[in-house]
Amino acid sequence: MAPSLFDPSAIDTVIFDFDGTLARLNIDFEQMRREVASLIERRGVDSRSLQNRFVLEMIDEVHDQLAVNSKDGAASFRKKAYRIIEDIEVEAARKGALFDGTKELLTGLRKASLQAGIITRNCEKAVRTVFPDIHDYCPVVVCRNDVRRVKPHPEQINLALSRLGGAPGRSIMIGDHPIDIETGKNAGTRTAGVLTGHFREEDFLQAGADMVLREAPEILRRLKPERF
Ligand SMILES: [Mg+2]
Repeated sequence: MAPSLFDPSAIDTVIFDFDGTLARLNIDFEQMRREVASLIERRGVDSRSLQNRFVLEMIDEVHDQLAVNSKDGAASFRKKAYRIIEDIEVEAARKGALFDGTKELLTGLRKASLQAGIITRNCEKAVRTVFPDIHDYCPVVVCRNDVRRVKPHPEQINLALSRLGGAPGRSIMIGDHPIDIETGKNAGTRTAGVLTGHFREEDFLQAGADMVLREAPEILRRLKPERF
C-alpha cells in the first residue's frame, strides 16, 4: 500500500515511542519471557498457549485466570511478574543510551512551536535511567505505570494529547514497531515508522503508516521544510 498524502503543516503535535525511536535499550525480551513463563508455571498455569503474546499481555491474561480463584493470589502474581520485567528493563536502561540527536530533536520541535509527547510500554524507572532530564526536554511522558491499558490501546496517546491540549487530527505518532502505527491509527493520529529498530520500510507501509523515516529527527524536516 502506498503511503497516504497529507498536509504536514496541519500537524502541531508529535508523539514519540521511546525504545528504538529516541533511545537504544536492548531489552532482552526473550529472557523476560522465559522468567515470566517460569513464574507462570510455578503458579500452576500452563504458559505454552501464551507464548505468542507480548509479555505484558501474558501477565494480564494469567492475572485474570488466577483472579477467578483468588484476587490476592492474582495481585501477588502480577506484582512479582512486574518486578521481574522492571529489573530487566532497568538493567537494559543502565547499558542503554539516547540516540544521537534526540535532545536536539526535542529542542528543535519546541523552537518550531511543535508540541511533543512520549509514550512507552516501558516503566518510568527505566526511562529515567537512560534519560534523567527527560522532563526538561519533553513535558509529557506517559509510561506503562501511568495508564491501565498500554499500546496498541489508544489510552496512552489520549492521555498525552489531553495533557498537551492536542488533538488526534493534528498529531503524528512516530515509532520503530508496527504496534506504534496500530496505536496511532487506534487514536486517529497520522503515523510514521522509523528504521532505527528492527523493522523495515515494507513492514510500516503494510501496517498503514503515512510515512517512513530513516530516523526520528527527520520529522523536523518533514513537518517544517522551510526551517530545517
Ligand atoms: Mg519502540
